[in-house]
Amino acid sequence: MTAIVWGTDALESVPTGFLTTDWQPAAAGATFDVFDPSTERPIAAVADCGPADALAALDAAAGAASTWASSTLRERADVLHRLVDGLLANNERLAQLITLEVGKTIREARGEVVYAADYVRWYAEEAVRPHGRSTASPDGRNHIVTVAEPVGPCLLITPWNVPLAMAARKVAPAVAAGCTAVLKPAELTPLTSLVFGELLREAGAPPGVLCVVTTSKPADVSGPLLADPRLRKVSFTGSTAVGRILLEQSGRRVLRTSMELGGNAPFVVFDDADLEVAVREAMIAKMRLGGQSCVAANRFLVADGIADAFVDAFAARMAAVVVGNPADEDTDLGPLVDHRAVEKANRLIDDAVAKGAVVVVRAPIPDGPGHYVAPTVLDQVPADADILREEVFGPVAAIRRFSTEAEAVAAGNDTEHGLAAFVITRDTERARRVSSGLQTGMVGINRGLVSDVAAPFGGVKQSGLGREGGPEGLHEYLQFKYLSSPGF
Ligand code: NAD
Repeated sequence: MTAIVWGTDALESVPTGFLTTDWQPAAAGATFDVFDPSTERPIAAVADCGPADALAALDAAAGAASTWASSTLRERADVLHRLVDGLLANNERLAQLITLEVGKTIREARGEVVYAADYVRWYAEEAVRPHGRSTASPDGRNHIVTVAEPVGPCLLITPWNVPLAMAARKVAPAVAAGCTAVLKPAELTPLTSLVFGELLREAGAPPGVLCVVTTSKPADVSGPLLADPRLRKVSFTGSTAVGRILLEQSGRRVLRTSMELGGNAPFVVFDDADLEVAVREAMIAKMRLGGQSCVAANRFLVADGIADAFVDAFAARMAAVVVGNPADEDTDLGPLVDHRAVEKANRLIDDAVAKGAVVVVRAPIPDGPGHYVAPTVLDQVPADADILREEVFGPVAAIRRFSTEAEAVAAGNDTEHGLAAFVITRDTERARRVSSGLQTGMVGINRGLVSDVAAPFGGVKQSGLGREGGPEGLHEYLQFKYLSSPGF
């Protein structure tokens, strides 16, 4: 087993302060601590910005807006291409920071850097594609020209679970569209966003194109920004509860919004499934990021005919998961992000068990400090268990059995969320039918992973509004002006 010995380089190279046109301390001089979830020890102190700092960042973003909006498509693409190079050249340093502040394994953290760079590369390539059109009205009297324009300064709010890639998934299309932005990372994981901001500057983005505001009091920053008429859009990834608050505030000024909110993904295994595929993809859908993903399988719905075999094989894989220090190359599962995440996962396990669920696996966790939760498989989870309604956001699999396809679809849709679903079957007609019946923005068919830079990621129902990735993700940052003139 080779453990990475943390050099101080990764931490020492994090810029000090927050970013407007340049790095500076918070106006009140305040800082807050960032913790390593595997040791529970503080690893860095970053600027704790308040309302005045937020407005200073908006001053910078608004000041740069018209110059950046009139940059050529090629200039924007070139900046993003250089950012890809910067991200990949700093892969190990960024991966170490991600592991330090999130607690995800170093292997997954390296994957996140590549995934973030892929989003930036995709939007570098998309930036130069024209989005306007010229056409005639049906009666020929009107010549219609549509011009794609940047929406203007944006507020981008990201969650802690995928801090670099979620920043990249917002910043890259915003920059490609000609928008300037204030990025507000999650208070648990601000470090990678600070380095990301520095790398974008090194890639040639003019001052003010991207500002980064760190804070322990997010509402103190978002409130003044959402109330300021210079801000034109908010893009948020996080919980549905906070998304609702931001939507209400945005409504007052009729702001453009993109909302990537919570999920409660069903993972449906039909009795014609290839068992090996079902178990392999179940492990990916459940255990990627230790279950701390918005598209993580939250409810396993398994057909009676295959349920015993699936539970046995899946439980064996869950019991074999290596839990430990996320910096070790051999670790499969690190700690959850904080003590609240541990308490929630354990509460949902206890509730399900008290209501009659059968514990098939509850693997050991390391002694000592760290926010660890045991890989857990619960079978026969009763319909009234809280785990079927709430995002567990941890390595806990809740299994229910079904007998008919209609029952599986109804159970899959029995949630206020509608982000992702997974369907495991060898019957292509059934896959098409069930995918169409599931009320979600994305369906993985015989795959436990749906995210793709070229595809529209997003949800329906209370999982949000708008899409990230693909051409749809760029449209979130564009508005179309229509010019009318006499027909041809
Ligand atoms: P969260 O809603 O607590 O926090 C998300 C962000 O909002 C953070 O930056 C936080 O500082 C900020 N925030 C919190 N309260 C705020 C307020 N009152 N005003 C303004 N900003 C505020 O979510 P989290 O715990 O960081 O992330 C987990 C959630 O994110 C889960 O529900 C998960 O499903 C969701 N998520 C969704 C997607 C997606 O693409 N749909 C992707 C990743 C995570």
